Amino acid sequence: MHQAYGAAPGGRGIRRRTLAEMNTRTCSRAACESEPVSTLTYVYADSMAVLGPLSLEHEPGSYDLCVRHTRSMSAPKGWQVVRYVSVGNEY
Ligand SMILES: [Zn+2]
Repeated sequence: MHQAYGAAPGGRGIRRRTLAEMNTRTCSRAACESEPVSTLTYVYADSMAVLGPLSLEHEPGSYDLCVRHTRSMSAPKGWQVVRYVSVGNEY
């Protein structure tokens, strides 16, 4: 008998990110790697935080947010939040 697959112990289940996956963006919040669903842009001139659909390209001053962080997003005091996206309300 011989082993057809020389599987190393512990080698299964851990998958490195491929290059394609590295190119996809993740949530901007620290320690969050969820897929972003919206883009938050701060408009300093108007003290406005604008939540819109995920932008195609990452722009300076904008932050991609996942569903969870889109919901929990709160603007600094005195800022207005404008939401152009709804992320459902399943919970
Ligand atoms: Zn997030």
